Amino acid sequence: MSSVVLHADADCFFAAVAMRSRPELQARPMAVVAHVYVASANYPARARGITSGMLAAEAVRVLPELILVDVDRTAVESASDALFELFEGIARGVEPGSMEEAFLDVGDDWERAVEAGHRLRRRAFAELGIPISVGVGRTKLMAKLASRAAKPDGLSEIGPDAEAGLRVTLPVTQLWGVGDRTIRRLSTLGVKRLGEIDTVRTDVLAQTCGTTMARRLLRYRDGTDDATVRSVRSRTSLTAEVATGGYRRPDWTPGQMLEQCVVRACRRIARAELVASGVTVSLFVRGGQPNVIFKHTEATPTADSRIWLDACRARAPRPVQPLSGLRVTLTGLMPATTVATTLF
Ligand SMILES: [Mg+2]
Repeated sequence: MSSVVLHADADCFFAAVAMRSRPELQARPMAVVAHVYVASANYPARARGITSGMLAAEAVRVLPELILVDVDRTAVESASDALFELFEGIARGVEPGSMEEAFLDVGDDWERAVEAGHRLRRRAFAELGIPISVGVGRTKLMAKLASRAAKPDGLSEIGPDAEAGLRVTLPVTQLWGVGDRTIRRLSTLGVKRLGEIDTVRTDVLAQTCGTTMARRLLRYRDGTDDATVRSVRSRTSLTAEVATGGYRRPDWTPGQMLEQCVVRACRRIARAELVASGVTVSLFVRGGQPNVIFKHTEATPTADSRIWLDACRARAPRPVQPLSGLRVTLTGLMPATTVATTLF
């Protein structure tokens, strides 16, 4: 047993933030609405069929007593900051997944990692009023599956014995980073569960799913999948992405998408006390691969989102087609302290 990964994930995060100031909603079905979609529903609402991504109007048809609320974006962002401060305080490495979930490296001792998970949950609830679920596993996939099993408001472990069995019976739909297209391709090979990959020749698997995906699937099957928590502090680049699909804002303009991504990426590197020297902007049009449209470097590395936004706004070409998403990558990351030393 060489590694332990924790996956910490806030339960119905947007709804939880909204309920902090309105505790009377805890026991009633409620959902936070973004644009015309349900962004997050509390558990009483989920128990009655309300899911993220539903049209708000449809959700109210399904459950007429559903209470729809708005949540202040800055309240959500400061709750996220507080959550990550807590993560950073408890773990020696934190790899953010989204604004409300992360993989944590809390050392290699399983029992201690479980204790850290319990401590984290207690503190998140006591100090921030945010319930989080924690999964403990040997790899990231196992930790993620464990946190999913722990929801809501729990901690669960997938130990080595359970892991071995799970890698045989796990439905491929639950594999992280395996999309609908691969699921369909696997089903043409008769593969619905991870263990059934053993019935397929490796070259056939690669021909059907592509070499990279076949490798990923085999790593999942063999238990050699990713177990490394990559903290932001150790990175050389960091990406933020928005998509217009699902309940994510289809009404956003390219300019608003750009601002979202730049601000988010800058916040993340600033929190890790890093600065960036370059930016790359990529666009997604429906059904296509991301297309790099703009690269720029600044003479003085910075985490100041205004500087990066100004540069992109002034020089990046305007998209001509409707976008399905936008990606911003900050590159050339280095500790903020290095820059201070070179400057003065
Ligand atoms: Mg969550």
